[in-house]
Amino acid sequence: MPVDRAVRPAVSGSREPLGETMGSSHTGCLIAGAGPAGLMLGMLLARAGVATVVLEKHDDFLRDFRGDTVHASTLRLMGELGLEDAFRELAHQHIHELQVLTDDGTYTLADFRRLPGRFKHITFLPQSDFLTFLLDEANRFGTFRFLRNSEVVAVTTDRGRVNGLRYRDADGEEHEIHADLTVAADGRRSVVRESAGLESRVFGSALDILWFRLSKRESDPGGMVGRLSGSQLLVRIERQNHWQTALAVCKGGYEELRLQGLDRFRETVAALSPFLADRVHEVRTWDDVKVLDVQIDRLRQWWRPGLLCIGDAAHTMSPIMGVGINLAVQDAVAAANILAEPLRNGTLGDRHLRRVQRRRLPPTAVLQRMQRFLQTRFLEPWIRGEGRSSTPLLLRILKRLPPLQGVPARAMAIGPRPEHPVASLR
Ligand SMILES: Cc1cc2nc3c(=O)[nH]c(=O)nc-3n(C[C@H](O)[C@H](O)[C@H](O)COP(=O)(O)OP(=O)(O)OC[C@H]3O[C@@H](n4cnc5c(N)ncnc54)[C@H](O)[C@@H]3O)c2cc1C
Repeated sequence: MPVDRAVRPAVSGSREPLGETMGSSHTGCLIAGAGPAGLMLGMLLARAGVATVVLEKHDDFLRDFRGDTVHASTLRLMGELGLEDAFRELAHQHIHELQVLTDDGTYTLADFRRLPGRFKHITFLPQSDFLTFLLDEANRFGTFRFLRNSEVVAVTTDRGRVNGLRYRDADGEEHEIHADLTVAADGRRSVVRESAGLESRVFGSALDILWFRLSKRESDPGGMVGRLSGSQLLVRIERQNHWQTALAVCKGGYEELRLQGLDRFRETVAALSPFLADRVHEVRTWDDVKVLDVQIDRLRQWWRPGLLCIGDAAHTMSPIMGVGINLAVQDAVAAANILAEPLRNGTLGDRHLRRVQRRRLPPTAVLQRMQRFLQTRFLEPWIRGEGRSSTPLLLRILKRLPPLQGVPARAMAIGPRPEHPVASLR
């Protein structure tokens, strides 16, 4: 296996992102995955003067149906980092409430106008734009290096300690980079956590989500709306030029739908959202429908010597409540707060990695518990058609007591433990 000698420092100086130590490439922090967790951590560490390299298996960020939400706590973070004006220039939409339409009427599940602080909405921004924004910001620092088309295949170890990553470039050639700290931010199917032998608790899910895109017309009603009817749940999210649409099905339900045929699928969508009936034919083949295998899991230990897992690599989130991106960003901020200093002065130890897990486990466990509650008590029985034809009690209570609509809004947009960058990261 060739060692990556072709990779040369991007900048000269004492804090170059990639140097050579005894014939192998070496950096301070090596991050697998350029999603919200990996790029936010990379950007913050680079700002703090830590030599940082991010490896991303894809060439670009243009993947369809990633979550495109930027939450109130991330918006506040942008302000704290002095990036608010630049961020605001990106084309985006604001959503102020999450509504559910049942056969009895319209119910508000979350009212973001009730949030504390300046940001009383969720921002919708293509995730590729958000990631490009973070990458551009990170690239301003000579301490940062981004390697595209670099698919991590395994961790490397030295006497039981993780000391870097092995990755494959676009030509299929394998390379190694060693680091003081390796971070797994490679998402829900993390190769790094598996290769490091970290064990997870799998909570499972009986649901899958089918995502598809339909065009938007000026006369359409707007916003983010869940439609509950019969034993069906359809969510439609208004985007700049289209509707991002999701149909929840029981696990294995996709195969059943395919057997029934596309016409039946289109009829179901049209029955749930009649104004979409004139464009359901835009789903031309099953290739236009993406299946999301919903999962919830969490590592028992998020680290081992030399390695830390954050974001979905540490705790895969269900798309329910749309909290996964926020949690990934908050993990990155907490990790940077705790790790930047010891990485800079060479005192990083297991205790620092343990502290990151201790800090982020409680908010993660709370949100996963909420997701599991909503899934098992509410969504799964509904989708299985277990005799619930009237509007769920939760929605009726929220309608009767509107201030309570701020509770789910807060869980989604801010989360149980919002993080703030320490002064040295600002
Ligand atoms: C269809 C869908 C819709 C969702 N909608 C929402 C939403 O609206 N709001 C919300 O908050 N959350 C949503 N989520 C959840 C959210 O996307 C995740 O929780 C969040 O993206 C986690 O961020 P991350 O950085 O940890 O991982 P990811 O965003 O998964 O990023 C991981 C990165 O690592 C890269 N990678 C993977 N393997 C390797 C490898 N071997 N080598 C190198 N790079 C690798 C990937 O290409 C990717 O860029 C949704 C999830 C899905 C699947």
